[in-house]
Amino acid sequence: MSPDQNPSCVFCRIIGGDEMVSVLYESDEVIAFLDVQPLHRGHVLVVPKRHYKNLFYVPEALAARTFAVARRILPGLRRATGSRAINLFSPNGAHGGQDVFHFHLHLIPVPEGAPFPLQLPDPSASVPSRSELDVMAARINQCIHQERDLEILEEVARGR
Ligand SMILES: [Zn+2]
Repeated sequence: MSPDQNPSCVFCRIIGGDEMVSVLYESDEVIAFLDVQPLHRGHVLVVPKRHYKNLFYVPEALAARTFAVARRILPGLRRATGSRAINLFSPNGAHGGQDVFHFHLHLIPVPEGAPFPLQLPDPSASVPSRSELDVMAARINQCIHQERDLEILEEVARGR
């Protein structure tokens, strides 16, 4: 197991070859394999090989490469499963249902007529007003800029 990996993490053990999975794709940075508890047949996990707890911690370039692998797999996965719909899902935090704390992306084929637990829009959801949406968008934008400023300050502090 490389120093980038965590021995208590099941995905790191898979990446290190200590647990068996059915691998679809592997590069130096990203691996894709079948989920051993598929929601539907052909359920794939795409995982960067370095251990990052979740998407909050994954460097942007590696996140982009992980999504690119997902994009590459999609057409063949659709052909192999016959599912015209394939949903992407990534839990990022325990409250959101993350169970393995190593960033991963689920590719879930959804057969026609089969249930998918997350249906959007939720018919029971309340519909906010335009001004409420604008206030929320402004708040998120302000926080995105603050986060960027903090990242720049941290990089400066590290001497980059
Ligand atoms: Zn890990």
